[in-house]
Amino acid sequence: MGVLIMINCPLCRSSALTHAVRYLPDGSKESDIQCRNLKCSATYRTKETVYRIIREPLTPSSLH
Ligand SMILES: [Zn+2]
Repeated sequence: MGVLIMINCPLCRSSALTHAVRYLPDGSKESDIQCRNLKCSATYRTKETVYRIIREPLTPSSLH
């Protein structure tokens, strides 16, 4: 259902590919990303984290 979208290169705005992914104990996700623009080839690290629950479960007690 979700669509995989990487953060574009901050230097040249080209699309990029994920190199490595790490899941941290706090539930966030770090990715090493490489720019697909051969003239740039920058590598950078992004961090994804949940900062807000948009819709909570209707019946939280049924989660477990
Ligand atoms: Zn780039």
